[in-house]
Amino acid sequence: MIFTLIPLPVLILYHGGERMSYLSKDLETMPRDELKALQLKRLKEQIARTYERVECFRKRMDEKGLKPEDIQTLEDLAKVPFSYKKDLRDYYPFGLFAEPLKNVVRFHASSGTTGKRIVVGYTRNDLETWAECAARMMSAIGITDEDIIQVSYGYGLFTGGFGVHSAAEKLGCAVIPMSSGNTKLQIQNMVDFGATVLCCTPSYAMHLGEEVNHMGVKDQIKLKCGIFGAEPWTESMRREIEKSLGLKAYDIYGLTEVIGPGVACECSEKAGMHIWEDHFLPEIIDPDTGEVLPEGSTGELVFTSLTKEAFPVIRYRTRDICRLEYQPCKCGRTHLRMCKPQGRSDDMLIVRGVNVFPSQIEEVLLKTSGGDITPNYQIIVDRVNNTDTFDVNVEMSESLFEDEVRSIESIEKRITSELRSTLGIGAKVHLVNPKSIERSEGKAKRVIDKRNLH
Ligand code: ADP
Ligand code: ZN
Repeated sequence: MIFTLIPLPVLILYHGGERMSYLSKDLETMPRDELKALQLKRLKEQIARTYERVECFRKRMDEKGLKPEDIQTLEDLAKVPFSYKKDLRDYYPFGLFAEPLKNVVRFHASSGTTGKRIVVGYTRNDLETWAECAARMMSAIGITDEDIIQVSYGYGLFTGGFGVHSAAEKLGCAVIPMSSGNTKLQIQNMVDFGATVLCCTPSYAMHLGEEVNHMGVKDQIKLKCGIFGAEPWTESMRREIEKSLGLKAYDIYGLTEVIGPGVACECSEKAGMHIWEDHFLPEIIDPDTGEVLPEGSTGELVFTSLTKEAFPVIRYRTRDICRLEYQPCKCGRTHLRMCKPQGRSDDMLIVRGVNVFPSQIEEVLLKTSGGDITPNYQIIVDRVNNTDTFDVNVEMSESLFEDEVRSIESIEKRITSELRSTLGIGAKVHLVNPKSIERSEGKAKRVIDKRNLH
């Protein structure tokens, strides 16, 4: 750990050949008109550079009769063609890179939650930008070089592990590079090394919390906060994790295509995730028409990178459905905030014609549980006689399992009726035995949709 006289990290950014030195606090609290001017300057450069170097983007611009010079305001971005996850598959592996491989120093690939894997590349400066973005969050929630960070996101091609690892090192924290899995050893190290911060997916944090209590070592762990992301999670789940691990839980958002974890993160206010707008320009669009929606609307989140070198993304359709908050944050940061994504548009289930997000079900389960169930659940959708079946298996708590008096059936009925009033359709709820649903060490698999298997 390094002793430093400067309380905020001095960040050196390389961009478009120029070298800039910033205190991150100045960037994070920059007046919005200055921030917009910076975005426009960078946007023009990023579009010109991508047009020159990436054939797919150039072709799409040409088809629309657009040249980089036509982009003169931030609003002009709406004219520019979108890019999609499919492009990364069509141009696999390196067809969308804007730098020769000799300038690429790292690859990552998506964890493959939905469909074929995709690959992205980073120059040295891209890694620097990425570490800076995630490090900003860590300082925003009070993490310093005094902290010991246990990184329990997977290391490897998945961006989670390396993403927060580099950020923590940048701040001078002591990093425990655990990766995911090996739960008992994770907890042993957490105790022995005195970890003060935990980084992993929220579903793995739930599992770790469960095990910590099972092993009876809660009073021996020193965790003060956790940085959890990479999958949707609800406020009720946050409360569960905070209770079981005795820490403050913060949300972090990112995706491989845009850079990795740290595109957006919560500050100490826990009131939405600040998007680091000096690097990533967000838009909210109507997912059906592609139209940019007015401020405050809920729609699909689209990102344009402003400083990336090896793998720039222009109007990239994340398929995440969310809303942006433009009101100033109490913390003083001027960068706008995104609310928790409800889930991806392609995670959304359509059951008997009704749109259902797994996160809505989770919210109902945790709200109505009253300690009778655990947040471990699985949704199973099938089609029988041309009708969708919709089952929700939920693990009951140990106390309910041991309680012979209360009727499981009446609890199932209570949850069923809550689900019906929230979702507008009926689900069959089954309380299943404790520990019978498989635990996740990375992103949880909540939905089993058997309809396409017939
Ligand atoms: P994959 O697409 O294979 O899952 P990624 O790790 O790149 O690979 O996943 C990024 C996606 O994970 C995002 O587009 C979003 O849907 C989801 N995600 C990441 N962080 C969060 C978060 N904090 N809350 C909700 N969803 C998240
Ligand atoms: Zn804030």
